[in-house]
Amino acid sequence: MIRSVCGYCGVGCGLEFDKDKLIGDVTYPINEGKLCSKGISELISINTSTRLLRPLLRESIKDEFKISSWQDSIRAITDKIKETPKEKIGFYLSGQLLTEDYYIANKFGKGFIGTNNVDTNSRTCMSSAVVAYKKSIGADFVPLRMDDIFKANLLILAGANTAEAHVVFHNQIKKAKKEGLKVVVIDPRFTDTSKIADIYLPIKVGGDIDFFNLISKRLIDEELYNREFVENHINNFELLKNKFKRAAVTKMLKRTGLTAEQFDAFFELYKNSENIITAWTMGLNQSVQGVDKNLSLINTHLLTGKIFKEGNGPLSLTGQPNAMGGREVGGLSTMLAVHLGFDSESVKKVSKFWNTDKIDNKPGLTATQMLEANLDVLIICHTDPVYHLPNRNRVEELIAKIPMVVEINAYENSETAKYAHIRLPAAPWGEKEGTQTNLDRTITKQEKLTRTSIECKPDWEIFKLLACGLGYEREFNYQHPKEIFQEYQEMTKLNGYMDISEVSYDELSEKPFIWGEKIKNFLTPDKKGNLFFVENRLLSEKTTLEYPFILLTGRTRDQWHSGTKTNLPTTLLKYKELNFCEIHPEDAKNLSIKNGDEIRVVSKRGSLLTKALVTDAINEKTLFIPISNREVNYLTNDLLDRESFEPDYNHSAVKIEKL
Ligand code: SF4
Repeated sequence: MIRSVCGYCGVGCGLEFDKDKLIGDVTYPINEGKLCSKGISELISINTSTRLLRPLLRESIKDEFKISSWQDSIRAITDKIKETPKEKIGFYLSGQLLTEDYYIANKFGKGFIGTNNVDTNSRTCMSSAVVAYKKSIGADFVPLRMDDIFKANLLILAGANTAEAHVVFHNQIKKAKKEGLKVVVIDPRFTDTSKIADIYLPIKVGGDIDFFNLISKRLIDEELYNREFVENHINNFELLKNKFKRAAVTKMLKRTGLTAEQFDAFFELYKNSENIITAWTMGLNQSVQGVDKNLSLINTHLLTGKIFKEGNGPLSLTGQPNAMGGREVGGLSTMLAVHLGFDSESVKKVSKFWNTDKIDNKPGLTATQMLEANLDVLIICHTDPVYHLPNRNRVEELIAKIPMVVEINAYENSETAKYAHIRLPAAPWGEKEGTQTNLDRTITKQEKLTRTSIECKPDWEIFKLLACGLGYEREFNYQHPKEIFQEYQEMTKLNGYMDISEVSYDELSEKPFIWGEKIKNFLTPDKKGNLFFVENRLLSEKTTLEYPFILLTGRTRDQWHSGTKTNLPTTLLKYKELNFCEIHPEDAKNLSIKNGDEIRVVSKRGSLLTKALVTDAINEKTLFIPISNREVNYLTNDLLDRESFEPDYNHSAVKIEKL
């Protein structure tokens, strides 16, 4: 029997593999033996007919791919890199990579090519939370754990549909409810998560900052904030208090779409709850004001002192299995490595550690900026930007102009493949080993459960081949991911609070390790939390008479991203329907649309065909299409948060045409 971990979502459930059977690990603290449909089906995705199994090469995207050798493919890439200025090279990584793979890609790109254009698809889901955590508590650090819900009295879920996106955690919430936890769900859709809510608040899309500001204002006005905590541990209180004096409460409440009675009922529960957790995910992050939404939420915990205490705190729910590991090693272009930035002291430390003089001292391009930047070489790893970046028609136009697009992937049916020149077959989950960090800092080892398909390679080995092809044999002389993990462990000592040297790679096969458990204070230079006054600046795309609906996007329970692993013809599991657009009955009636009718959803940027799902689970003038509909980003707008550069996926103006 081999112990491993699920490679789908940020919950990170423990698994047991015995011969050909996969079950939940009953001894694993997070899931206690439970798995969702995705976890159960991990094995199926290894053997699908849609695996990419050989290196493929072509001169132009108009040509057919030809089977190539690893040697020729690597040489073609390194030859191109040698003749390309470093600022014209980009690495587009993914929260699906293991920590060792991320580490090597980051070291190669930032340390030896000398470009900080090393970013990840986590940019499109978690970067708003990263920026907000850094600003308010001093570091990209999740200050509590999932099992804190068993010590909390109130869990607020804002823009988070745990029933579909974090299924096993959702089951834990249900269990905690039986022990007395109250749950408030804030969402413009009455989701499956809303069904377990004690209070459901059908907020108007875009009203989140107003909602959390209303809480903060009431806490200050009614002197319900934690005076002692604020005086000793928090900056900017007087500024916030003064700003809120002039805040237009009626206008703010109106923008939330909630009634005064709804807000009061919530606030009554809120002020009488001793221990409070506020959890959120893409409903807040994926916004042109994603950072501000996060800050307004975290403000409430700083005012009440409900942070760094059991059963309390702002809990960002990460979507991907190793988005956290990627952030830790430095997989975002806005950080260098191990949470260090580009200040001269950090660059000096990292340069010495990697023994290089090539590190640039400026942040690189983000994933959401790379295609606009006229790159000459783009190396994409385990992700599908043509599918997931917003405003897809524009994305297709831009990526088609890049002279060399390299796609490293385990599956052959991505949308990005149509624009790749070289495709390298990577080992998928189950055919490789390494570590990953889940959403609450738990580091677990993913194990190799079956032999690696003949021509496939783990990602760390692919990046090693590229580095060696450029002459860095000595610096990338790794024989096993264990050596890379150990080097990364050494590196975490460069940033004191991240030191993970007490755990060993081999021990992780038996038991997960939770880093940062001793951190009980803010990580800012003055050890105080920072309040920020933020306002709803209504920056998202506005509806018009022609485009009167706001489009929301989000996960569905059984599907994962573009469906390369979950939308399989061979699967024995009965998955939820994917091709639908939720519309309110009143809106459907006005457009003479019936349930199941074929409709075209149109934005200024593009359109898609789908079927109407008439339901009062969604607010009027609001539509919902799942992200696993591969065409959804023909509709979405490409506005970005000015600090996190995360897209505004949940606020595009659209119209409906009945066919
Ligand atoms: Fe895997 Fe997430 Fe499901 Fe757990 S909840 S089995 S980690 S997809």
